[in-house]
Amino acid sequence: MAQEYDLVILGGGTGGYVAAIRASQLGLKTAIVEKGKLGGTCLHKGCIPSKALLRSAEVFATTKRGEDFGVITSDVSLDFGKVQARKNKIIDQLHKGVQHLMKQGKIDVYEGIGRILGPSIFSPMPGTISVEMNNGTENEMLIPKNVIVATGSRPRTLPGLEIDGQLVISSDEALQLEALPKSIIIVGGGVIGIEWASMLSDFGINVTVIEFADRIIPTEDKDISKEMQRVLKKRGINLVTSAKVLPETIIKDQEVSISAEVKGVLKQFKAEKLLVSVGRQANLEGIGLENTDIQTENGFIVTNEFNQTKESHIYAIGDVIGGLQLAHVASHEGIIAVEHIAGEKPSPMNYNLVSRCIYSNPEVSSVGITEEQAKEKGHKLKIGKFSFRAIGKALVFGDSDGFVKIVADSETDDILGVHMIGPHVTDMITEAGLAMVLDATPWEIAHTIHPHPTLTEAIGEAALAVDGKAIHS
Ligand code: FAD
Repeated sequence: MAQEYDLVILGGGTGGYVAAIRASQLGLKTAIVEKGKLGGTCLHKGCIPSKALLRSAEVFATTKRGEDFGVITSDVSLDFGKVQARKNKIIDQLHKGVQHLMKQGKIDVYEGIGRILGPSIFSPMPGTISVEMNNGTENEMLIPKNVIVATGSRPRTLPGLEIDGQLVISSDEALQLEALPKSIIIVGGGVIGIEWASMLSDFGINVTVIEFADRIIPTEDKDISKEMQRVLKKRGINLVTSAKVLPETIIKDQEVSISAEVKGVLKQFKAEKLLVSVGRQANLEGIGLENTDIQTENGFIVTNEFNQTKESHIYAIGDVIGGLQLAHVASHEGIIAVEHIAGEKPSPMNYNLVSRCIYSNPEVSSVGITEEQAKEKGHKLKIGKFSFRAIGKALVFGDSDGFVKIVADSETDDILGVHMIGPHVTDMITEAGLAMVLDATPWEIAHTIHPHPTLTEAIGEAALAVDGKAIHS
């Protein structure tokens, strides 16, 4: 039997389930169609599991250098089964939380594969959703006034580096490893590749990162890449940049080898496993886009600033529209889409003010544009930079690599970007984001009293440094 809804959401990941909750708050009769598990990539294959493993790696590495803190530890060892069990327990707890939120919001959840149909007996417009149910029961037919496509993304591969799930893996398989290899090659030195490199190195694995660009995390400010490169090299990670991987992996005796052209020289790399981390592609297949006028570009759905597609009653949010593929972006886009559907007149998303984080050791966070981008845009700059080496709390933590950098316009005093690398900076970036949302000047940040001793003092000092007035430099 066909069911009618105000809104049906295809995909119950971070974007989809948050959109559903906002829709329920606004009184819309809402359903979610999810073929896997509510919570999607972020909860089951992304943010949460990777951060749980990163935390175990950090505890392991810190315990091993316990003597630095006067704590004598001997025979520190790793029970990787327990590491994975801890990760799974956290996922399970959060998954139950999302299921509870769906019940609380009276949101109907259809477990199955959803597909958009063209005009039919149910509706003259495309948008009826047919659901092939996971439990094998007859297809459900959902007739919504509005649809949100939130089908997310999956790991991309390179020709010749096809994932076999055993020796050649993506982040999906890496999260499920039952035992750690002794060595690994990571192809791709972007956000996800560097998180894995840092974590696996902290677990004691021999790590080589191969990156096509001339620096790792190439979308970040150049100074941040340089500092990350310095710290990771100091920790023994082999970073190979300006490297073009050749499209062939050779698997022999449980060992993977690949070749890459590095600055014109052919080099070979061998390891027990190869992790391919070269970006993510949108899940567009089989969702019925061909039955609509929805447009795609470079493999992603095209939307306007309220996330409407060419079919004005069909919206798209999250990884499936590309851009910043982040959980907090997906959920915010979901809220904008739902509020637009409900006639609430939301403000469009300002992508320049979205904070971006890397949860490696050291952490990275940034908001706004880099120094290079600001120069390209023709701004006259003044820059304040302050090192964690002069911050008492960082020394107390035993983690004083890194700095805070503020890029400001010297004529208007506008803050154009804030870039941080160091301990706990992912928890510190929101202050910079709020300052930029409120159009604050570096002076206003500096005169927000930063408590002592905290890591946030580095932000206050960097803001003073913009006008050459840092106290502790
Ligand atoms: P998804 O979370 O991918 O959800 C899409 C859902 O749609 C899935 O559950 C899928 O099963 C379902 N689906 C697909 N097709 C259909 C269909 N036809 N019918 C029904 N259901 C369907 N982001 C951060 O902000 N912070 C981080 O720390 C972070 N870490 C990450 C670490 C890793 C290793 C990875 C891979 C990603 C990470 N991300 C992180 C990115 C983040 O996970 C994504 O940006 C986010 O999950 C996107 O949400 P989404 O709702 O668009 O898609």
